[in-house]
Amino acid sequence: MDHFTLRSGELYAEDVPLARIAAEVGTPVYVYSRATLERHARVFRDGLAAAGQVRLAYAIKANPNLAVLRVLANQGYGADVVSAGEMARALAAGMPAAGIVFSGVGKSRAELAKGLEARIGQFNIELEEEGRVLAALAVARGMRADAVLRVNPDVDAGTHAKISTGRKENKFGVPISEAPAMFDRLADLDGLALRGVAIHIGSQLQALAPLETAYRRIGRLVAELRAAGHSIDRVDLGGGLGVPYRPGEEYPAPAALGAMVAEVTRDWGVELMFEPGRVIAGNAGVLLTQVIWVKPGVVHPYVIVDAAMNDLARPALYDAYHHFEAVRPCGRRMTANIAGPVCESGDTFAMGREIDVVASGDLAIFRTAGAYGATMASSYNSRPLVPEVMVDGDRYAVVADRIAAETIMDAERVPEWLG
Ligand SMILES: *Cc1c(COP(=O)(O)O)cnc(C)c1O
Repeated sequence: MDHFTLRSGELYAEDVPLARIAAEVGTPVYVYSRATLERHARVFRDGLAAAGQVRLAYAIKANPNLAVLRVLANQGYGADVVSAGEMARALAAGMPAAGIVFSGVGKSRAELAKGLEARIGQFNIELEEEGRVLAALAVARGMRADAVLRVNPDVDAGTHAKISTGRKENKFGVPISEAPAMFDRLADLDGLALRGVAIHIGSQLQALAPLETAYRRIGRLVAELRAAGHSIDRVDLGGGLGVPYRPGEEYPAPAALGAMVAEVTRDWGVELMFEPGRVIAGNAGVLLTQVIWVKPGVVHPYVIVDAAMNDLARPALYDAYHHFEAVRPCGRRMTANIAGPVCESGDTFAMGREIDVVASGDLAIFRTAGAYGATMASSYNSRPLVPEVMVDGDRYAVVADRIAAETIMDAERVPEWLG
């Protein structure tokens, strides 16, 4: 459910006509709906309530805009961060340090130190050496770092290879078979309070079965660790719940996840944590664009829009589908390819897609662009960095400026010795 709907023949974001935003801010531009973000945050929290008291750490990488983070902070969400930059955003948005989880396979020593100094709530350790370094950094500061060990359960999440993270050949986590011995070695270190384990098997999951398999493996691991004398009081079950990108697609609701988790974790006796990203932000944003040309093609015409792969990378990266709709649909349909202006054939959003008939100058949206959209934007082809807008009822605010190509150029220098 989202708040981007047709009203008397024209698409609105909540109570604001998208055409108004295009006229006042320009295109391309990301548009987020506060009400949709809040709804998703609530539905996820309520759905997981079946599993008891759970901690929620929004995966910032899905959409790290400060206004988005503020909405989620107000909803009681902490943050799952994967860099010092994301940690700074979480803190700047008002998320309490205790609610911050630091994930990621390549946290630098400087980043670990920053996390300690900010007194974040949890480090998710990805390899034994990282645990040892973190422990030493904590001892040097007279501290003890709360940590969990990320394990790789060797489960195929059934998603795109580039966003699958829980198979044994992936770079994430320690092999589940090696986890008990490693846990023994790390648990003894001064400076480390090793409290449990974490997993995250992938993103855009369409079925609960792979998650359930992974969770059951984690349950057996927790029992094994306890039998070895460790006190385990936290398990971080990651994120990954998928969202529908195509009309009519069905994805498991948070309530179904909550019911499964309640069943699987019934006697774990730990504090559970979740790291949802896409399911919170995905359908809360659209990319608003304008048609530049409709160029005749050999098979189908090319609708050339002013948004490109530098603004929304998912189609080029993962062949991802984003639903395309005219802001003022005329009622007729056509089959077309949709592409951006960037000089790569990969800058194509769709081939042979049935869409609303559009013409040069018309406005359109790509739906489900609130997650892994603006955050992946670049200035490739020396295009401006795409701006972001948040709508709240009948008002809106620009929550990230368009950064002009000239401003980006200002950060570059030509050394004197080049003449
Ligand atoms: C990306 C990521 C998430 C969020 O994944 P979604 O599919 O967006 O829910 C959660 N945890 C970790 C460790 C991640 O890397």
